[in-house]
Amino acid sequence: MDIPPVVSNPLIEKKSLFVPTLDEVAKVLQDGLKSNFAQVEVKVVDCPDLTQKPFTLACKGLGGNPSVVEVGGVPYLLPLVKREKLYDFKDVARWSEINPAFIIGACAGPWPYAGVNCEMMANLSVSGNDVDNHTRIAKINTNDDSCILEILPNTETRIALLANLFLSEGKPGKVLQVHCKTRTGNDDFIASIRKTLQDHYKEKAVGLGGTFVLKEAKAKQHIMPDFSTVRLNSDQDVENWLHFYNQSPPLVAVGTLVSADPGLDLRVQHFHSFSHHGEGGHYHIDTEPASADYLGYFALGEQVVRIDRPVETHDFGRD
Ligand SMILES: [Zn+2]
Repeated sequence: MDIPPVVSNPLIEKKSLFVPTLDEVAKVLQDGLKSNFAQVEVKVVDCPDLTQKPFTLACKGLGGNPSVVEVGGVPYLLPLVKREKLYDFKDVARWSEINPAFIIGACAGPWPYAGVNCEMMANLSVSGNDVDNHTRIAKINTNDDSCILEILPNTETRIALLANLFLSEGKPGKVLQVHCKTRTGNDDFIASIRKTLQDHYKEKAVGLGGTFVLKEAKAKQHIMPDFSTVRLNSDQDVENWLHFYNQSPPLVAVGTLVSADPGLDLRVQHFHSFSHHGEGGHYHIDTEPASADYLGYFALGEQVVRIDRPVETHDFGRD
């Protein structure tokens, strides 16, 4: 199969996000998350060194030009794949005008490298053409349906189809520390944060990115199989196509959320998680709410950068 070149001249749209103080957001979350978790502690702290375990991210902090960046979208995957939608992280950093760039988030992995469609947990630093890549991909072992998790080499910096990324200069700084235990509501960790912000900030779009570790509880996660050759036209079609797993903790997730869409056809939340025991995928929700223990570090994005927004769009397949 011919491998297309990466997209070189996409439409790039930028908008400011609403940026409340971290102290205010901490108070809003401290009050709101109690409707979904028995124990909630939200604080403003100096970002811990995220290169250390369990996070093992490519840079220490989330500071410096913090930006929510969405590339492509689900309409490039469904109803049928558009294989020409390949991008390079180095270009994404350049288009976002962030250098050096610490890039984390949830994406479709580079099928030309993996040999198949796959999940990606972006985690790398890019400075010009210098790359320090800790990005992982998760794909399905077709022999026994198990998960294959691997780290990409510095030379592989492509993304396929869609990406929800948080870019910063990786500097230290103040962040939100969100610690929630014992889930009592029906929302996943990220949805509970997003809905709390949405209730408070209404049409003002607040964007967050960062990382969280799920300790103790297992989680429902999916891995995409190879591209469907038949059209997938609905959420039900997509659910039948995806492969779902009940993966073990600790799981380290990376991604973004926005409380409202400022007219850019954004995916409002998207986190993928990896582990140090061979499992990874697209985070849906913990499956053991009584023992769920989430610890997250998040920064507020100051801008949203929308790259190569699909012209023909739809709203299924975004869960
Ligand atoms: Zn995903």
